Amino acid sequence: MRGDSPTFSFEFFPPKTPAAAEILYQTIRDLESYTPHFVSVTYGAGGSTRDLTHDLVERIQHATKLDPIPHLTCICHNEDEVEAILVRYARSAIGNILALGGDRPRDIPYNKSRDSFQHAIDLVKFIRRFNESGAHPDRRGFGIGVAGFPEGHPATPNRLVEMDHLKAKVDAGADYIVTQLFFDNRDFLDFRERCALADIHIPIIAGIMPVTSMNGFKRIAELAGGARFPAKLLRALQRCENDPEGVRRVGVHFALEQCHDLLDNNVAGIHFYTLNRSDATRIIFDSLGIPRRRSAQTPTVQSSEEVRKRLAN
Ligand SMILES: Cc1cc2nc3c(=O)[nH]c(=O)nc-3n(C[C@H](O)[C@H](O)[C@H](O)COP(=O)(O)OP(=O)(O)OC[C@H]3O[C@@H](n4cnc5c(N)ncnc54)[C@H](O)[C@@H]3O)c2cc1C
Repeated sequence: MRGDSPTFSFEFFPPKTPAAAEILYQTIRDLESYTPHFVSVTYGAGGSTRDLTHDLVERIQHATKLDPIPHLTCICHNEDEVEAILVRYARSAIGNILALGGDRPRDIPYNKSRDSFQHAIDLVKFIRRFNESGAHPDRRGFGIGVAGFPEGHPATPNRLVEMDHLKAKVDAGADYIVTQLFFDNRDFLDFRERCALADIHIPIIAGIMPVTSMNGFKRIAELAGGARFPAKLLRALQRCENDPEGVRRVGVHFALEQCHDLLDNNVAGIHFYTLNRSDATRIIFDSLGIPRRRSAQTPTVQSSEEVRKRLAN
């Protein structure tokens, strides 16, 4: 994470149906040749979707040349469960974990006071202790990422206090920050400056999600609570709201301009929220003119087909 050039990475979520799995495997096949620095896999609020995360992370680790980073959350977990997950990931030589508070479950009864970890910082400390125990095959243990919110997190309206919480996570051992999606780069750049003022000097990776449909756009507003949509983007979307292809082009173009500007401003990395689709990310990536990294081996068409088969088994 501490290299000179920016990192590029992709986020996936675990598919729940065989059809959705097929789409994801195709996406992984499409994106593998872009040699991202890592791909991350989200973590659900409970039950079987959590096993899907573990399985997908291990499949990516063993069947592809990608470096998967699992998300792990505090919600509905005790220490023994988290330790078992860390042991499993360590055995699979997973190198990094994104330690998060987690979204509240919507469809199961939930009592936060029963969780062993109240905030992401508790998870960061626990992973640090795990690292120190020497249980990871790499003596450095897991690298630890945490979340950052350029526009602020809805649960802490006091932005000074919020920055104190972020600083505490960093002091507890976080190695890098991945941000919530944002549409106005000024929010990200100002957040980065505020982090520097708070003595936070770890890499801050920008989360980018291209709008690809009007429905998707409305879902973003719902899920990424507090996300601010600049008038420039809204105006462009309004002009073509009845033309799905036009919406997609506007969304991709807007995200591309954001990426160019972030690169001009020496961003440490760009993390694409792919929603398990590759089209928008590929167009952006190709248009940025980023050379493929030589260190990761670019798979041939044949071997990527092999990858798809191995992922599916
Ligand atoms: C890059 C990224 C990936 C994500 N992936 C997932 C995922 O896979 N699964 C999922 O469920 N959710 C995911 N989320 C959503 C995230 O879990 C929620 O937004 C969550 O509410 C905040 O997570 P956090 O890690 O910042 O939590 P925390 O650091 O625990 O912060 C949550 C809130 O509590 C406050 N706080 C922190 N520490 C303290 C303290 N000591 N005392 C009082 N208040 C405190 C913070 O200011 C903040 O308002 C992701 C978010 C991002 C940005």
